[in-house]
Amino acid sequence: MVDSSTVIGHQKILDRLSTAISNGQNSHAYLISGPDSVGKKCVALYIASALNCETASQTPCGTCSQCNRISRRVHSDCETISIDVDGYLHGDGNKRTVITIDQVRKIIRECYLKPYEGKYRVYIIEQSHRMSEEASNALLKTLEEPPEQVVIILISSVPEKILPTLVSRTQLISLKKVNRLELQKGLIQNFQLEDTAAEELSKTCDGKPGIAVKMLNDEDYKKWRSDALDEVEFLAEADSYARFIYGGSLSKRYLKDRDALIAILTLWQEWWRDVLISSYGINNSIINQSRVDKISYFADRYGSTKCAQTLRILNSTMVKLQKNFNPSLTFEQLMLSMPSLT
Ligand SMILES: [Zn+2]
Repeated sequence: MVDSSTVIGHQKILDRLSTAISNGQNSHAYLISGPDSVGKKCVALYIASALNCETASQTPCGTCSQCNRISRRVHSDCETISIDVDGYLHGDGNKRTVITIDQVRKIIRECYLKPYEGKYRVYIIEQSHRMSEEASNALLKTLEEPPEQVVIILISSVPEKILPTLVSRTQLISLKKVNRLELQKGLIQNFQLEDTAAEELSKTCDGKPGIAVKMLNDEDYKKWRSDALDEVEFLAEADSYARFIYGGSLSKRYLKDRDALIAILTLWQEWWRDVLISSYGINNSIINQSRVDKISYFADRYGSTKCAQTLRILNSTMVKLQKNFNPSLTFEQLMLSMPSLT
């Protein structure tokens, strides 16, 4: 099992953060934005370690008791707040789709207490664009007059959906995808991979270290990814009738778990980008290297125009779903308008 809290890439940002923190110039609130799996949570944990590390070094040592407990997620002053999807935290078993006012009230109550074991209390709020309006407003009041020794870190892949007055109270940290060679180097250094294994993995994860860590650690993720790629290959070859039936099942799955289906559609977009790139004969740039034979096969049969058309249709499907269009009609339209081989 590899340590999933290690930051890969983003070195300039880490240097700036650790210099500011060691000079006592940390912000009381950060907003870390960037694509999924790019390392937002790892950078948040890096900030928590830099604030609490026992050594005098400028960068967190990663080995002292504070750093160690933060990376193992057992530090009592470093708390991650996530959507209570099964209602466990609220104690009523009701599914939540937003960060609730109760969760923010708990932060507000605790943050005026002294840190228990470290120097700073750190609250990391995941998917912070999904805080309810009242939760956002409650948090805003705390950020207007932040207590000493408290740092609140918002994480979001859609920062434009966060209350602007909240955003204006934070220091912004915008993460971009990690350069492939930097990612490869990070995989060798941190996870002791062989050169060729690191190279292959770095190609697969599209600049997102979080995907690499999941591919190394998580058998369920590997199976999910493989199943989703099987599906898109099936659909690329299916006739209109099979696709139409499939559209109905996608709609049902979307209603059951919206985020899971969006993740699948995102992977399909990535796969179709690979087919488009392959249609130009540039196979060494494709992401899904383990599927290169099938990708070349479909690239030859579809050609670049149809691939580009499919990508446009998938993009517009994502936009419609974000705008809450009727999912059943949206998936039906997707299936009927994608170019086919037959
Ligand atoms: Zn340390």
